[in-house]
Amino acid sequence: MEAYQSLKNYNTFGIDVKATRFATFSDVVSLSDLLPDMRSMPHLVIGGGSNLLFTQDFDGLVVKNEIMGISEASRDSSSVILEVGAGEPWHAFVMHCVAHGFGGIENLSLIPGCVGASPMQNIGAYGVEIKDTFDYLDALEIATGTMHRFYNKDCAFGYRESVFKRGYKNQFVLCKVAFRLSLKPEVNTSYGVINQELERMGVSNPTIKEVSQAVIRIRQSKLPDPKVLGNAGSFFKNPVISMSHYQALQSEFPDLPAYPIDESSVKLPAGWLIEQCGWKGKTIGACGVHSLQALVLVNHGGATGKEIYTLSEAIIENVFERFQVPLEREVNIY
Ligand code: FAD
Ligand code: NAP
Repeated sequence: MEAYQSLKNYNTFGIDVKATRFATFSDVVSLSDLLPDMRSMPHLVIGGGSNLLFTQDFDGLVVKNEIMGISEASRDSSSVILEVGAGEPWHAFVMHCVAHGFGGIENLSLIPGCVGASPMQNIGAYGVEIKDTFDYLDALEIATGTMHRFYNKDCAFGYRESVFKRGYKNQFVLCKVAFRLSLKPEVNTSYGVINQELERMGVSNPTIKEVSQAVIRIRQSKLPDPKVLGNAGSFFKNPVISMSHYQALQSEFPDLPAYPIDESSVKLPAGWLIEQCGWKGKTIGACGVHSLQALVLVNHGGATGKEIYTLSEAIIENVFERFQVPLEREVNIY
């Protein structure tokens, strides 16, 4: 275990803060050895650090999950269950599935971070969420040191939500996640831009590999690469508002895009609301709002987490003043 470790290389915003203690673990035995320290001081489990904003030094123990491995647990005529170590990079796992013809997560290509964090906020993109293929996970309870299995129904998955972000926050270390992938995949191209990209690629009857390639091309064209420009993806969730609120806004802002959730509520793209307030591409000191996607806050180099947090506050206030829509942060603040 190391003392006073810089976390700069462990968060994709590239924020230079320190942790009082830092350790890695690559199996359940080495994780169990860390439990007494985790119980006696504030602790934080991290994977790739791509959904975090550090606003101050972490006065406690940061543990990085490096449990690796992908193995087949079972299969039947139509599906296969893969058990995946929580420290496996998410995109490498997607590429493994695509290469083997296992369908279901190809729309989630190129999402940074580790498999162990994927259930935390039920990661999603391009019309797919992991709850659609998630089967179960094994997590070590920090207080007791016992391993628990959580099935899909136990996880309370929602839009960028799960029980591990809410009621069970900080109580479990996710060690292994199992997914049920299809051996007879049907592609999901319901999200408009995928079809447009496939058309550009000259593909009319796409395979999962081609859908994955289309998603990668779209993402590379508009999202900043954290290795080049510090960021944590979408900083805010897309807000869901009532139909009556939407109708009132629509009469004032006829171009307002919206996606129906059900008869009484709609989802608004937060990026559009932020852009309308004039924030897209703005730089404030060393941080700012990305020039191609206003939902992404960026560190141009040397920004502090506090500066980025203050920027997010100004954006939330501004969007509320203009649209009376409260934005909620998606990124975990520490
Ligand atoms: P971390 O940032 O390390 O941790 C996130 C949270 O999970 C923390 O609260 C941490 O304590 C907890 N945690 C992590 N691992 C464990 C564990 N094993 N046990 C217990 N708790 C744990 N997200 C999407 O949903 N969809 C996207 O399309 C998407 N695109 C992105 C694009 C970019 C360019 C970036 C930078 C981020 C994007 N994200 C997206 C956000 C992020 O990549 C995902 O949420 C990812 O799953 C986070 O994984 P991580 O390993 O980096 O988690
Ligand atoms: P986009 O295509 O510009 O669309 C803006 C928003 O509108 C999206 O966030 C999406 O909500 C919603 N949307 C667009 N088309 C939709 C459809 N056909 N059905 C339902 N909702 C639709 O978004 P983007 O920023 O380039 O991101 C593309 C996808 O990658 C999105 O799914 C987004 O969530 C995901 N992504 C997530 C992160 C993150 O950090 N969480 C970062 C980058 C990209 P949804 O977000 O609900 O899909």
